[in-house]
Amino acid sequence: MTRMQAAEAIAPLDAERDDCPVCGSRDLMHSVASDAVPALCNALHPDATSARAANTGRFATTFCRHCTHVFNAAFDEDRIGYTQSYENSLHYSPRFVAFVEDLTQRLSDTYALAGKTVVDIGCGKGDFLKRLCAISGATGIGFDKSFEQNRGDDIPGVRFVNDWFGDDYPDLKPDFISCRHVVEHIAEPVRFLRGLRSHPGVGPDTVFYFEVPNALYTLRDLGIWDLIYEHVSYFTPLSLRAACEAAGFDILDAGTSFGEQYLYVEVKPSATPRTGALVDGGKITTLVDDFDRSYRDKVAHWRNYLAERDPQMTVIWGGGSKGITFVNTVPGAERIRAIIDVNPHKQGRFAPGTGTPVLSPEALRDMPIQSIIIMNPLYRGEIEASARALGLSADVQVA
Ligand SMILES: [Zn+2]
Repeated sequence: MTRMQAAEAIAPLDAERDDCPVCGSRDLMHSVASDAVPALCNALHPDATSARAANTGRFATTFCRHCTHVFNAAFDEDRIGYTQSYENSLHYSPRFVAFVEDLTQRLSDTYALAGKTVVDIGCGKGDFLKRLCAISGATGIGFDKSFEQNRGDDIPGVRFVNDWFGDDYPDLKPDFISCRHVVEHIAEPVRFLRGLRSHPGVGPDTVFYFEVPNALYTLRDLGIWDLIYEHVSYFTPLSLRAACEAAGFDILDAGTSFGEQYLYVEVKPSATPRTGALVDGGKITTLVDDFDRSYRDKVAHWRNYLAERDPQMTVIWGGGSKGITFVNTVPGAERIRAIIDVNPHKQGRFAPGTGTPVLSPEALRDMPIQSIIIMNPLYRGEIEASARALGLSADVQVA
């Protein structure tokens, strides 16, 4: 497996796109790149052999000086095929459940969703939509190609369609459309947003809620384990607004959430779509330089950390994309004993790339573990409490 390489060694390949997917600018900067990251970080495998044979792709971190957008210029959507093995539900963590409670309550109040029709695009396993409808009294329709029936509780007035929301559903007239953690997966985000705006069921008062990972958190606070192949785009507050405005939306509200890890915008179709440029990408140059250097320092730090310990007595806690990226990025991390995750649907499966097993916290009772590496600082309290309850005295570090 090829590790991430230092930025100065990287020149863009001919096959990489040379324009920004948000604003079209060709004023781009190139940063760290890797030739072989798992194409589907969240798709766990039933056995180690198939996990190690998983599809990979090139990740070429690229920055737009014009709108500050960050993207993988080498993204190839043919390498991605979402299926029902795509397991991205976070709804097993209390910290995340609290976030969803607050968000659904706020959206319900702000947009008076009682009795209205809500569509959730890319609804995953449907947990968010069910909660939104239960809290608000709205009727909900969730769209996702990876939706599985018979999971969790049925909520009256909520149904799911194993498909994308498109013009095949012209009679559906949603008052409110949520679309969380979808736009960053799409190679042409502005075209995608325009498509939603021009859907026959969308009216002038239809409100959209878009939520994506916050690139500034990824870059500034070094959430570097969030650089994954599935995410073509890393939106900054500026580039998310730019994408929505370019697609013909007016911004109603925008901000950060979940400890600044997420960005959201609430928009509605603009009566007079604006064209042309905003933005001042000036500050991003410093950000890119800092990111470049810090990225290499951080990978080196964890390489040294593992070199001084027995990776077989070390576990990662967090089987989401961050954990998968860590084991596939840090030299030596492929020998880590296991990835621990509280989600029972992940347990007993294997990480793409390295083939690291994913186990339950309870499995640690029988393991001589010295180190626990946590992938998300927001879960630190929760994980430390679980580790104590299991009688573990391991060193706990946040990656
Ligand atoms: Zn741009």
